[in-house]
Amino acid sequence: MAGSTDIDAEVLVCGGGMAGTVAAIAAARAGADTLLVERWGFLGGSATAAAVGQFVGWETEAGRQVIQGTAEEVVRRLERHGASGGHTRFTMSTGHAMDQVSYDPEALKLVLDEMAAEAGVRVLFHATIADVRASGQRIEAVSVQTKAGVLTIHPRVVIDASGDLDVLERAGATFLPLAADEAPQPATMMFRFGPIDFPRFDALSTAERQELARQGVESGALARAALHQSRIPGTHDGWFNISRVSLDATDPFALSAGEMEGRRQAFSAATFLRAHVPGCEDGRLVTLAAQLGIRESRRVQGDYLLTADDLRAQRRFPDAIAVAAYPMDIHPAKGAGLSFETLGGDRAYEIPFRCLIPKGFDNVLVAGRGISATHGAHASVRVMPTTMAIGQAAGTAAAMVVAGNAGTRAVSPGLLRERLRAADAFLTA
Ligand SMILES: Cc1cc2nc3c(=O)[nH]c(=O)nc-3n(C[C@H](O)[C@H](O)[C@H](O)COP(=O)(O)OP(=O)(O)OC[C@H]3O[C@@H](n4cnc5c(N)ncnc54)[C@H](O)[C@@H]3O)c2cc1C
Repeated sequence: MAGSTDIDAEVLVCGGGMAGTVAAIAAARAGADTLLVERWGFLGGSATAAAVGQFVGWETEAGRQVIQGTAEEVVRRLERHGASGGHTRFTMSTGHAMDQVSYDPEALKLVLDEMAAEAGVRVLFHATIADVRASGQRIEAVSVQTKAGVLTIHPRVVIDASGDLDVLERAGATFLPLAADEAPQPATMMFRFGPIDFPRFDALSTAERQELARQGVESGALARAALHQSRIPGTHDGWFNISRVSLDATDPFALSAGEMEGRRQAFSAATFLRAHVPGCEDGRLVTLAAQLGIRESRRVQGDYLLTADDLRAQRRFPDAIAVAAYPMDIHPAKGAGLSFETLGGDRAYEIPFRCLIPKGFDNVLVAGRGISATHGAHASVRVMPTTMAIGQAAGTAAAMVVAGNAGTRAVSPGLLRERLRAADAFLTA
């Protein structure tokens, strides 16, 4: 790291997706000097760069809202900007009813800017993780590549919220292997399509949609057997989530080829929509997402490994830092279908703080889709309301680590839960 500029930060958050941004806001609100580094020029990660367009997984199937706190604050602020209609319900291609908050990704960028600035987060855009120096159980320095060259940050606590866990990879952490019968969930190139005659499009029955999607897959025009989209509030356009690219997102050449394949599939799907789907005759592909959306890559080995059985059994934990209820939603790496296992009724599960603590490190936390969870549990944890709840816990805990001048394992679970509740987080499964 010779020749670089050096700066200090009490809490360094790497990656400004929904988890990292909420983590940085929570740490700064709790009084820590917080630096958030992000490779793009805006916050939101998959929510904005990959244009996912809807937050799902707020409620149990029975309709009890279990994700609140800062995640809900994001929704309220989007509503004030006219960029979301708030909580609604829709029916999936599988026939499952689900809660949903659609939003305009462009306005979300603004909302996250405002929230980070108001909290006092120092935000560094166009900064890519380059190198990490670890010593014993600690990360001592993280260097990022910027327009001005290499900047080396000396943090007290690091939150790896980079999705792919690039910081922990460079620090030599251990990641969870996939079982022989598992593969990472495929990526998707989201695309904006419109104008759509929504009264006609929405009038299609589930059976009609399934039949159209089946024809699309059979003809080779669609990679996913669904016509899934989320309407962009205030427009006649929707973000379509119907492409599918299987890859190892941590392999730079595979990722490059995947971006191209995602674009090819998006244009193919748009041509199919226009030609065959009622309500889409006058539409065209308006925009591609800025990047391929990555559902799954590295998952860290943490102090506790959350499993699908923990979710099914609604296992309780004394150090629970979030409650979630989203189904285990697996897009298979091969084929056009979906595996969707709901928890049922009013059932929800808990996520223990130990899932955020990587084995072998004492000043690092993980926020977002890379926490310590099996492939099956990750398939539920990965949705954005849950990653925001995890982010809020990670940021709050990081500020406690700074204040207590001890390691992450010295954080009192009881006190952490008290602080989270005081900040409107929901913790009763
Ligand atoms: C196609 C698709 C559809 C989905 N559909 C839904 C849905 O309908 N509803 C829902 O709630 N969830 C959905 N999900 C899941 C959800 O969007 C993601 O799991 C979630 O957004 C992950 O958030 P995160 O903050 O953990 O990670 P990410 O969003 O991946 O954020 C990571 C951040 O780190 C930055 N970063 C990465 N590497 C580096 C680096 N080396 N240096 C600097 N910065 C870096 C990235 O730019 C990004 O901002 C979907 C996901 C995909 C891909």
